[in-house]
Amino acid sequence: MKLATNTTKLKSAKHILKNVFGFDQFRSTQQDIIDSVLQQRNTLAIMPTGGGKSLCYQIPAMVFDGLTIVISPLISLMQDQVRQLVELDIPAVMLNSALTTDVYQDNIASLKDGKIKLLFLAPETALQPAILSLLQSINVPFIAIDEAHCISEWGHEFRPEYRQLDRLVSCFPDAVTIALTATATPRVREDIKRQLNITNDSEYIASFDRPNLYLEVALKESAYAQTKAFIHKHEKQSGIVYCQSRSGVDELTAKLKQDGYSVLPYHAGLNSQKRATNQEQFVRDDADIIVATIAFGMGINKPDVRYVVHYDLPKNIESYYQQIGRAGRDGQDADCLLLFGYGDTGKIRFFIEQMNNEHEKRLATMHLNEMLALAETEDCRRVPLLQYFGEPDVSDTCVKCDNCLNDDKQKSDLTVPAQKFLSCVHRTGQRFGAGHIVDVLRGSNAEKVLQNQHNLLSTYDIGNELNKKQWMTLSRQLIQKKMLQQDEQFGGLKLTQLATDVLKGKVPFYAMLQQATPEKRQTASTSDVIGNIDLVARLKAERKKSADKANVPPYAIFSDRSLQEMAYYLPHSEQSMLQIHGVGSAKLLKYAELFLSIIIDFCVQHDLHEFANMQTASAQVKKEIAKSSSVGSKTKEVVEQFEKGRSVADLSRLLKVKDNTIYSHLYKYAQLGNKLVKPERLIEEAKLTQEQVQDGIAAFEEHGSERLKPVFEALGENIKYEQLHLLRAFYLH
Ligand code: ADP
Ligand code: ZN
Repeated sequence: MKLATNTTKLKSAKHILKNVFGFDQFRSTQQDIIDSVLQQRNTLAIMPTGGGKSLCYQIPAMVFDGLTIVISPLISLMQDQVRQLVELDIPAVMLNSALTTDVYQDNIASLKDGKIKLLFLAPETALQPAILSLLQSINVPFIAIDEAHCISEWGHEFRPEYRQLDRLVSCFPDAVTIALTATATPRVREDIKRQLNITNDSEYIASFDRPNLYLEVALKESAYAQTKAFIHKHEKQSGIVYCQSRSGVDELTAKLKQDGYSVLPYHAGLNSQKRATNQEQFVRDDADIIVATIAFGMGINKPDVRYVVHYDLPKNIESYYQQIGRAGRDGQDADCLLLFGYGDTGKIRFFIEQMNNEHEKRLATMHLNEMLALAETEDCRRVPLLQYFGEPDVSDTCVKCDNCLNDDKQKSDLTVPAQKFLSCVHRTGQRFGAGHIVDVLRGSNAEKVLQNQHNLLSTYDIGNELNKKQWMTLSRQLIQKKMLQQDEQFGGLKLTQLATDVLKGKVPFYAMLQQATPEKRQTASTSDVIGNIDLVARLKAERKKSADKANVPPYAIFSDRSLQEMAYYLPHSEQSMLQIHGVGSAKLLKYAELFLSIIIDFCVQHDLHEFANMQTASAQVKKEIAKSSSVGSKTKEVVEQFEKGRSVADLSRLLKVKDNTIYSHLYKYAQLGNKLVKPERLIEEAKLTQEQVQDGIAAFEEHGSERLKPVFEALGENIKYEQLHLLRAFYLH
């Protein structure tokens, strides 16, 4: 019986997803999370920014009878959610000091009348006796705690008021709770679960990979010119440029303004009024670019930020990830550029030196080194990024970073210097940091070297072929490739098993000590607009008008993707309009007539017709057309040669690239909707049996094709990753 009700509830959740939100499918973790909540299990949801946390509480809120309380730390976040929900005709309100007395009283009255489905509150408001007693007089089946990491003293945004939420929860013993966050270290997760009574089996952690973000690092040479060139590719799109200092923000804003860009500054030196208006103008597309310090971020939910530039080096991977995470929350392509200058490293090191606590100093240095390893790596940028989040095997083919797309870089054989370094670590007793090892290798007379008698070692003064900076770069690569392990507390380096293989000469060590010059780099294809560009522009102008009239940001009317699909499918009827991503019943009622008339006019003018199979176009097809469709010349060459019968191994030797790069070309080709003339070549190359192909395809059907790991596991780890790469390309045909 209980099972039956749950199935009904899940069905109703899916119905709401399509009819209210206009989306075809849940993202995989979303479904598990919603299912867990609907089964009345207190749940912890950890998903990256843009992962789709909001739906995880909004949909159950609509399935349950009664009022859902949503706890949120910031007024701007509440405001954003309420605006979007109201646009969807979902009754939602907030109670906070930003409201006029009239509106506040109206909201209280609607709550008492039972008209409201979602109420947004700061924790301190929720615990006010008057509010609490009002809430207790209403049926509250569900409590959602957003930004739940604020609950933990171990988190970086601890809010003491969050600590008292257990009191709120205990006032509603029958309500189910969900905690949601994008950032939670294991310690913070434990804290949240303990405070909110959540068991381990109702904790869901989505992958932190953000496959739609293109990651690029360029040596900082002429930062302004580089930034301008980059922004130029993204004309009229929303973007954020992060600078280290307030003065940096002011200078860059002034320059860009002078060059005619629509740009506003944001940093803690501006008064709160100014910050709020600048943010609002950005959110409403009245300004294209925000130049900001790290002060800009948490309060902003704009889903269509198309790029993030780091004008200066972030001090650790955590901040880098958080900041790039503000791009592409809507799942559409977005571009992230980091300008990497060694001068910035010096500045950060200087700040670290000023710290008093030795342990903190070491941790900060280690975090900086991780960031440097990401900036300097010649492998996929996602590897160090996701390693940081404890996702060690990023064996999937990345097609969204400069290194994976760029095969031209020259790596050199650094086996001998690597052996020298590792051997010096060994001879000095595996207790010292990289700086000291380099001193020994380069024959320094530093006091620490002499005191420890390291000048007597056989590895003393044998490393003058590299300068100090190059040795340091090499050491970071050795750490990143897990040949060395750094002691968290003391910073000393230790050898791992992998190091032994290099020392014994069993495994060579290839790396790059110099960044490739920016000219050589291929840049991301900017998020190509699908659909008729002129029509998209017209629809956008109309969206902005409607948004201003409704006093909401444009994205609350329609997402970019919705407009692009309209300009591609050219719907002529309400029925066809409902097939467009993001169009549900409320949007249809409010905007279909207006937007349909623009589309139909445009089609008449240009003799265009509705896309014939629009109503049957599958979600998969929509997804593919939502991606850019340009195939690089390298990809074409690989595909051509592959079809002629060359093996992956031959091709990687021929083109001097890794096997993975070949897989990634084949995948990208298929992913963009192109077809091999002989797709069976993929199966032949993978050496798979008929049965394995069938099982594999079923697994892709079930788990999706974006990540290989779930499929690998579903198949009992019986089909190798190399084979899965090929099978996936086949599956996409
Ligand atoms: P988060 O709060 O995790 O940062 P949001 O809840 O703001 O993410 O969602 C990010 C974007 O993804 C929003 O624009 C949202 O409409 C969209 N989205 C969420 N779930 C889905 C889905 N199942 N299908 C399509 N789009 C989705
Ligand atoms: Zn990559």
